[in-house]
Amino acid sequence: MSGVPTRGTVRIDIESCKGCDLCVAACPPGVLAMTTDRYNQRGYRYPELSAGCTGCNRCSQSCPDFVFEVWRLDAPVELPEGPVAESAVHRTVEPHKDEKH
Ligand code: SF4
Ligand code: SF4
Repeated sequence: MSGVPTRGTVRIDIESCKGCDLCVAACPPGVLAMTTDRYNQRGYRYPELSAGCTGCNRCSQSCPDFVFEVWRLDAPVELPEGPVAESAVHRTVEPHKDEKH
């Protein structure tokens, strides 16, 4: 099976997002994209994750509203190209939360 190598995943608290786009610009592999036709309850567009996250944590560091939780996977996985449902990654590999540096 071929897919997009993925080493990390993020949880996005979409209701805390203010739609500023900073995380999209900060993501080195460009796997975050803002919604175009969906909004949170405060009326802001919010980011969605596609396959290929490296777990680098830049999105979390750039977000002024603490929207992201980032995990690095214990081992890389290959995911189908396109948006990642959080449950898809969690089903594939038990995520390892990088709490200690
Ligand atoms: S952890 Fe890194 S690669 Fe993954 S979404 Fe955030 S900035 Fe992008
Ligand atoms: S940086 Fe944070 S507040 Fe700004 S769009 Fe991204 S998730 Fe939303």
